[in-house]
Amino acid sequence: MPQFKTVRGMRDFLPEEAKIMKYIEDKARRVAELYGYQEIITPVVESYELLAAKAGEEIRSRMFAFRDLGDRMVALRPEFTASVARLVATTLRNEPKPLRLFSVGSVYRYDEPQRGRYREFWQSNYELMGSDKPEADAEIIMLTNSLMNAVGLRNCTFKIGHVGVLRGIMAEENLEEKTQNTAMQLMDKKLYDDALKLVKDAGAQEKCVTTLEKLVELKGADVFETVERMKECVKNYKKAEAAVENLYEILKLISESKSKIDIAVDAGFARGLEYYTGMIFEVTMPEIDTALGGGGRYDRLIELFGGEPTPAVGVAHGIDRIMLAMQTQKVPLEKREENKVVIIPAKEEFIGKAMDISRMLRDASIPTEVEVMGRKITKALEDADRRQIKYAIIVGEKELKEEAVVLRDLTKREQKTVKIRKIIEEIA
Ligand code: AMP
Repeated sequence: MPQFKTVRGMRDFLPEEAKIMKYIEDKARRVAELYGYQEIITPVVESYELLAAKAGEEIRSRMFAFRDLGDRMVALRPEFTASVARLVATTLRNEPKPLRLFSVGSVYRYDEPQRGRYREFWQSNYELMGSDKPEADAEIIMLTNSLMNAVGLRNCTFKIGHVGVLRGIMAEENLEEKTQNTAMQLMDKKLYDDALKLVKDAGAQEKCVTTLEKLVELKGADVFETVERMKECVKNYKKAEAAVENLYEILKLISESKSKIDIAVDAGFARGLEYYTGMIFEVTMPEIDTALGGGGRYDRLIELFGGEPTPAVGVAHGIDRIMLAMQTQKVPLEKREENKVVIIPAKEEFIGKAMDISRMLRDASIPTEVEVMGRKITKALEDADRRQIKYAIIVGEKELKEEAVVLRDLTKREQKTVKIRKIIEEIA
């Protein structure tokens, strides 16, 4: 037999890392609760058409797509938004708005594997459907900040832009949507010269090109001052002016919420996904050069999927990258003090009793392992010690005659004989 290994871009999570991943997932779920988002579970496999509809060339070309045995063209989800939008366009069509939906799970992209970039990775995803108001955008940013705080990350910074500004200018020049999309993709990759050349070649006037040129250089951590400069820059481009005003309102609400969020505005910021229509943002950390999460407003997607026109805003956080960030910043996990127990029969004939006691403890929600290797007491205790288990219960002949066992506290290195019916009290 060959030596099997994981497929390129796929990873195993051993207990230590699996624990951190689940820890982040728990925090993400808690944030969902705190903000009123209800969890839904959607399939990993969706129709290719749905996923490709508005994903943008960037992601479309990296999907794990295949024909299933029923000759359906399907793909592994590269993100959650398409699935959530499908639901809101169909089954949840008549649900009262706003709808706040949360999902967490694995997504798949045929990215070039490297540190922080995998082909299977995990996201926590939040979508707020039905509101076109700036408070909805502000909520998504505040919620992202809450998650970063909840997992204990320090020095996170948010970069915020608005696709309506760049698109607003291009639209006024009657540039086709396809050209706009390509220009935005180039800007997303910071290939500003190529983007400007494309716009120029598509027939845009000189003024449009110089305005875009100015915009892509406009950024700053003094957000209100930067927004003022953007306003100045886009004067007389009606749609772009409205977009800057919208960005201002979002920033104002975040400021009024008194959330401590480190934000910089970046007028030339574009994101790969084609479906964004308004505010877009990313959260990063100095030690990691890629984004921990990103999102924005997409007001036309649900309509595109045949639903009622439904404004929406959402965010996806990369759980793998959050783990990497926590490891880099050496963030300790909050300890959940749990009194784990191991049960060791002194002789093989007492294994039945050990099974009985283990069942009883687990029924009382006490995590319990039974010695299943048939080891001698000292060996089994050594192993329990190494794994920092708090208690050992030794089932021995002498004690059993009195319906009792030995309860050993492995941290204090003390032991006593305890009646079996009293053992839960004793441990709890
Ligand atoms: P996106 O849907 O592209 O905005 O991605 C949202 C988040 O998912 C990013 O900010 C990353 O944290 C994470 N992410 C995206 N691609 C990958 C990848 N290939 N490997 C790990 N995490 C990723």
